Amino acid sequence: MATEARVVGNSTIVSTNPATGEVLAELACASSSDVQAAVLRAKQAQPAWEATPPRERVAVLRRFQRLLCEQRDQVADLICREAGKPAVEALTTEVLVILDAAEFCIHNAHDFLREEPLPHANLAMKTKRGKLLREPFGVIGIISPWNYPFSIAATETLGALVTGNAVVLKPSEFTPLIALELQRLLLAAGVNPDLMQVVIGEGPTGAALIESPIDKLIFTGSVATGKRVAEAAARKLLPVVLELGGKDPMIVLDDADVEIASSGALWGAFMNAGQTCLSVERCYVHRSLYENFLEACSNKIAKLRVGNGIGSEVEVGPLIHERQLRIVDEHVRDAVIHGARLLQGGKRLTELGPNFYAPTLLADVTRDMRIIREETFGPVLPVAPFDTDDEAIRLANDSDFGLAASVWTTNRRRGEAMAKQIKAGTVMINDVISCFGIAEAPHGGFKLSGIGRTHGKMGLAEMVQVKNVDTDLLPGMPKVWWFGYGEQFRQQMNGFIDLLFARSWGKKLKGALRSAGLLRRGNRI
Ligand code: NAD
Repeated sequence: MATEARVVGNSTIVSTNPATGEVLAELACASSSDVQAAVLRAKQAQPAWEATPPRERVAVLRRFQRLLCEQRDQVADLICREAGKPAVEALTTEVLVILDAAEFCIHNAHDFLREEPLPHANLAMKTKRGKLLREPFGVIGIISPWNYPFSIAATETLGALVTGNAVVLKPSEFTPLIALELQRLLLAAGVNPDLMQVVIGEGPTGAALIESPIDKLIFTGSVATGKRVAEAAARKLLPVVLELGGKDPMIVLDDADVEIASSGALWGAFMNAGQTCLSVERCYVHRSLYENFLEACSNKIAKLRVGNGIGSEVEVGPLIHERQLRIVDEHVRDAVIHGARLLQGGKRLTELGPNFYAPTLLADVTRDMRIIREETFGPVLPVAPFDTDDEAIRLANDSDFGLAASVWTTNRRRGEAMAKQIKAGTVMINDVISCFGIAEAPHGGFKLSGIGRTHGKMGLAEMVQVKNVDTDLLPGMPKVWWFGYGEQFRQQMNGFIDLLFARSWGKKLKGALRSAGLLRRGNRI
């Protein structure tokens, strides 16, 4: 393993529980040469894995899935302690999501990797047979964030492994132990240690992974880091998938059920303490429901239980670190200074610990406020009214981000019609965030929210390169299009084009006659 045993770098990172500050572990960072060595080991091990029949790779995933199911409490407990999220969310949004992602790979990898016949429509190509092969890239580098430390790293790792790649994972410096737990489960399931390595460290370790001879990179993180990653990858034309930030709008139409929509808004804004790329970061409510909606949200926020996520009753845990908390506080203050109404929260909960922020409700937010323009990534629900559906769409699309959005209505058709007009990778009708838990659904964004997709078949497609194999069925026959050009050939080809594409049957027939000599073409070189 490239982590504890082999690390020789001289810097260390300390993993702490964000709820309590308890030090969980101190780990050595992988140096550039450690990263390089890990990737070279992965490169050596990968061809044998690629040659392993898909059904055997699937069997490894099945064992992983069984182990995870058996050991879910242990895994969820670690997620709770290292990422600070409530116990229920560790189980549902991390463990369950990965059991399901494994199920998806188990049931779909074989078909996905099967050779696909490629019929040729053009008459000139009828003597050929084509097929598409989906081949692994080799070594996939994965750089992952802390907010879904298990489910993001695992979804990508499972997809990479089942398609025949090796993986070198650089997890967030805030959640290294969870990545090591993922590695432990995979190795216990039978994955060769060189095929799934974890390199621990901060940004420079991630940068070293990009500079190493990996064959593709799947990056999940902020837009700012994503731009740096894209620049470094572009210098060597390294293919990348970028899963970046969001500023997801929630639109509550005039026919929505306020009771339901307000509960949805709460979960969307405060789940994982608002530290979800798909969090509700802007909420637009039809003016006829506006005050009722705010009142319902305010009453419900007062009932939320905030605290150390280790208890089953806690609904909102701490933020990951103090820096994140400062950003949230700045956004809230900026909104209030510029005229937003603070209806709930808006303060640190120092009595619980240094990283707790009260679930916050802001009304009358406007587009010039930071809370509407920048990703807040904290427990804040900013709400604004709108008057018409067109205005709601305009507001929703008025963002540099385009990860996901939601429309709340009792009229499914109306919601789906609106979804077509929203610029986002996912639009949910009457729910939020849960699209991430649908193993079949592609996840990824428009605009600054990223490039490419993870999850589902599109996620698997990012792990393979498509090879087109085309076989000529008449190898003893020279091809009509080969050298030996001349006026007669030009005329024949003109006739052939008419045969294929002329609009009238008469012209087609004439074309057929003119091109008839093509098969007997002389003068070929
Ligand atoms: P981040 O950008 O700070 O870090 C992400 C990862 O990049 C970490 O592992 C970090 O160590 C590494 N890194 C930092 N500098 C690097 C460099 N120069 N080269 C290579 N790697 C480098 O993000 P974060 O704070 O860990 O995560 C939160 C962000 O991630 C939010 O913006 C959130 O919206 C986004 N996110 C997006 C998705 C998605 O699927 N679209 C999912 C989860 C989180």
